Amino acid sequence: MLAECGNTKVLCTVGIQDQVPHWMYKSQKGGWLTAEYSMLPNAGKPRKPRDGRTGRPLDGRTQEIQRLIGRALRCAIDLKQLPEVTLWVDCDVLQADGGTRTTSINGALVAVYDALLYMEEQKSLPKWPLRGLVSAISVGLCDGEPLVDLDYDEDSSAEADLNVICSSDGKLIEVQGAAEKQPFAIEQFHEMVAIGQKSCLGINALQRAALGL
Ligand code: UDP
Repeated sequence: MLAECGNTKVLCTVGIQDQVPHWMYKSQKGGWLTAEYSMLPNAGKPRKPRDGRTGRPLDGRTQEIQRLIGRALRCAIDLKQLPEVTLWVDCDVLQADGGTRTTSINGALVAVYDALLYMEEQKSLPKWPLRGLVSAISVGLCDGEPLVDLDYDEDSSAEADLNVICSSDGKLIEVQGAAEKQPFAIEQFHEMVAIGQKSCLGINALQRAALGL
């Protein structure tokens, strides 16, 4: 699944492994979902070395983003209804212009849905495990006004920066955010979350269309 949002493009795939993580084995019924995120070296500027090539461990941003993607998707799945498998979600950023984590989540949800359809066809799903879709959007505070889907330049100059992740009915799954220049008011935070929720509902409709629902 190629997810595009403006100039940001992320290839989202799901692999099904017939095994659960060691810590889950025999102690917990069901399956697991985990995510990996990576940017191609020239997806953004300046060139970012491929993960693992520099001999350093994964950088903090990569770890943070892939854990966010995994948490958001697991929130929509009743893991107990999965057989003993791990769904490996891979999000590879081909082109980055802000909002790569939110675009990853939007595309990954569609790819997970597709993988579950395949499992259903193979008769390996006792019950449909997905509770609903998951949609995400970035929201910034630019000159005191909330703005959705920031590109790189807007992101770099925003006074505050949030990522809002919602379920199909607009309920919150996670809000990530911080002031970038100076503290901002709770009223502005509420306004940013509300505009993010509204955008997520629009993205939800696009995901449904992509899935033919
Ligand atoms: N970016 C980049 N190289 C990096 C990190 C970030 O080019 O190593 C750019 C890229 O356009 C990205 C944007 O900075 O989309 C904002 O990065 P951020 O960490 O806020 O994550 P994102 O908004 O992509 O989820």
